[in-house]
Amino acid sequence: METKVIKIDRNNIKKEEFAEAGEILRNGGLVAFPTETVYGLGGDGLNPNASKKIYAAKGRPSDNPLIIHIADADDIRKLAVNIPETAWKLAEKFWPGPMTMILNKADIVPKETTGGLDTVAIRLPSDEIARNLIRESRCFIAAPSANSSGRPSPTKAEHVIEDLSGKIDMIIDGGSCDIGLESSIIDLSGEKPLILRPGFITREDFDAVTAGVEYDRAVIAKTPEKNVVAKAPGMKYRHYAPKGNITIVEGEPRNVAEYINRCVSESESKGVRTAVICSDENRDRYKCENVYDLGSRKHELDITSHLFDVLRQLDSDEISVIFAESFDELRLSQAIMNRLRKAAGYNTIRV
Ligand code: AMP
Ligand code: MG
Repeated sequence: METKVIKIDRNNIKKEEFAEAGEILRNGGLVAFPTETVYGLGGDGLNPNASKKIYAAKGRPSDNPLIIHIADADDIRKLAVNIPETAWKLAEKFWPGPMTMILNKADIVPKETTGGLDTVAIRLPSDEIARNLIRESRCFIAAPSANSSGRPSPTKAEHVIEDLSGKIDMIIDGGSCDIGLESSIIDLSGEKPLILRPGFITREDFDAVTAGVEYDRAVIAKTPEKNVVAKAPGMKYRHYAPKGNITIVEGEPRNVAEYINRCVSESESKGVRTAVICSDENRDRYKCENVYDLGSRKHELDITSHLFDVLRQLDSDEISVIFAESFDELRLSQAIMNRLRKAAGYNTIRV
């Protein structure tokens, strides 16, 4: 299949630009598009065949559910039943935006979209390209991240092209994603609200709207908790891991740099391609041929929006051994460290 790539200037959006993409979606085809979090791979969420195509294009296990994207908060009434009051409060506060809610699904949502579950994940993105696409398609768009299963989520159209070119009908190139980490997921289908995936909206943010929000244990675990049953099927799958081996090094910046430099020098002396992932603040501390600077800790969106791009670059630069700083003091530390820990296979050392 030939994948058509179209560019849309987000500062000058015209409705007509979505006509072809809308038709593809209505006909059961697939269109990748930008959102404020990461690029999504969209298909008609109420069409089981479209959902099956999404799983096939990504190589995703079919029990890992998809998120349905809507353009109007009231549409949760069509997709979900037994909607708690909390859902409306959270929607009012955080939509449009990087929050996904899990609710009990309505009958019209096929199990092909929910990975066989009786619950449905719903999000109303703030990205104007995404919202125009949803409106013009007149579909509820099921869209997981537009990467091949297991690779870092895409934050630029180039990443989507790398993974999915030839496998989907269209890619809408809208530039880089602002946040660069997937949405915060909050499960409202159980007794108390549970965060299944940390993101730009933190527990403290949720707590300010509704008390008693907790993290699912698997989300904040520093080691893979084998005896904890993952609440969301997707949580059990390997994620983001580059081909190289990442070690996260925690501790005082000076000690961390000293330790990493020692390891780097040993590794480089054996001719192994070695890299460091760090922030602006510590950039100059490292003696390594390949230093990937995510940005300043004072601009957390720089760190989040560069992380997946750097994880991909490590592969294209054929790096085998990687040392990463920890980001545990930031507002978004749960979201960042959750991804970094998975990328590192939970390989962490404290110095
Ligand atoms: P992605 O679309 O790749 O960013 O990830 C979608 C993720 O949303 C899945 O891997 C699940 O972790 C989560 N998710 C989607 N639907 C549900 C659901 N019904 N219940 C729990 N988690 C869900
Ligand atoms: Mg994903």
